[in-house]
Amino acid sequence: MNSQESKPYQVYSVWLKKHYGEKVYKIPINIPVTCPNRDGTLGHDGCIYCGEKGGGNETLSNILSVKEQMEINSKYIGKRYNAKKFIPYFQSFTNTYCEFSDFKDWIKACIRPDVVEIAISTRPDCVTDEQISFLQEIKKENNIEITIELGLQSVNSKTLKIINRRHTLEDYIETMDRIKEAGLMVCTHLIIDLPWDQEVDVVNSAKIISEKGSDFVKCHSLYIEKNTQLERWYNDGKVQLLTKEAYIRRAILFLENLSPDVVVQRLIGRAPKEDSIVTNWDTSWWKIRDELEAQMNNENYCQGRLFSGKR
Ligand code: SF4
Repeated sequence: MNSQESKPYQVYSVWLKKHYGEKVYKIPINIPVTCPNRDGTLGHDGCIYCGEKGGGNETLSNILSVKEQMEINSKYIGKRYNAKKFIPYFQSFTNTYCEFSDFKDWIKACIRPDVVEIAISTRPDCVTDEQISFLQEIKKENNIEITIELGLQSVNSKTLKIINRRHTLEDYIETMDRIKEAGLMVCTHLIIDLPWDQEVDVVNSAKIISEKGSDFVKCHSLYIEKNTQLERWYNDGKVQLLTKEAYIRRAILFLENLSPDVVVQRLIGRAPKEDSIVTNWDTSWWKIRDELEAQMNNENYCQGRLFSGKR
């Protein structure tokens, strides 16, 4: 058994290899979209932690076409990791918040024989039936998978208000139902150490996303990017971040209450140093991951041990 297969949770790279029969890499794609929480439709100020890149790092300029970005990134990633199969990943801001005709063009532009899946990151209140039907057709016609990545962040409605998400848990549930019914996959994004959440919220988030059928999950810590509301609150002493130990405790609690079927794409995120004032307690993401796994192995904890719900 190799080290990846013996991990106490479902590791994404293992799933990719099993599902697609070989290594598959994501290619970040940057398109000229914004977000209804920033352009004035819902509000101008955005989520309290949203930096200037809208969650997209390592992307090329959106002046380049989707085809050009695919070309450049697949060459680079293909050479670096000897990768032959790819997942174009529409990453920054709200990638379904655009004209439907543009959306269709951008999605079609990334279809190539070496593409096995398309991943699209968005808000739970920004996915239309029209987009879902179109993606369903794309999946069928090209024999590829489609994953919609939904930023939920917290299941606690008070916390959602404080962090200024301007969507509700109900939006997430309703959109999940529509996407799953269409046979597409979902990856849910969560910040598991929000200081306004309690541990019970983390447990609830694991239960809810499991029961709603989320195929994947990405967790990250609350980092403080420059020029954000969160930075101002932090500098004014209005918010105190949790410790690394508390993050690990919450992450373990989350995994133990998560269905064993959910594949973990990420347990801790990364933010470029130049864009943030506080990230991951100045500790490398992989050290935090290793510490977390060691604790789980020592205590015989594993994903799904406390999950009793239905999928
Ligand atoms: S929904 Fe995403 S892009 Fe929009 S303001 Fe919040 S973090 Fe930024």
